[in-house]
Amino acid sequence: METKDLECPYCGKGLDVNHDDGFGYEENTAHEMECMHCNKSFVFYTSFLFDYEPVKADCLNDGKHNYEITNTCPMEFSRMRCSMCDNERDLTDQERKHFKIGTKESYFEKLKQH
Ligand SMILES: [Zn+2]
Ligand SMILES: [Zn+2]
Repeated sequence: METKDLECPYCGKGLDVNHDDGFGYEENTAHEMECMHCNKSFVFYTSFLFDYEPVKADCLNDGKHNYEITNTCPMEFSRMRCSMCDNERDLTDQERKHFKIGTKESYFEKLKQH
């Protein structure tokens, strides 16, 4: 019986991770992969070499990331990170208002005033 590295979280078929260029070895990182059976994208985490944990990443299939604010100190340096694929982006002006967070520039201004 052939063993596969992981199972697609969408269709459940076995897949092998392509390790060309050392892909997929890094721990605690979301690695993107596309299923050759159902063509859906998902991410997997590598823990202890050769142990894979596939997780659904709907955002890679429908483009809707689930951004959550990072706990960064100082908070002016916070970023929005997708809880599914770890994609990061800067806060929008609206989000800065919503979370009552100033811009990096305002943080440096604050520093200058002391
Ligand atoms: Zn699949
Ligand atoms: Zn995402």
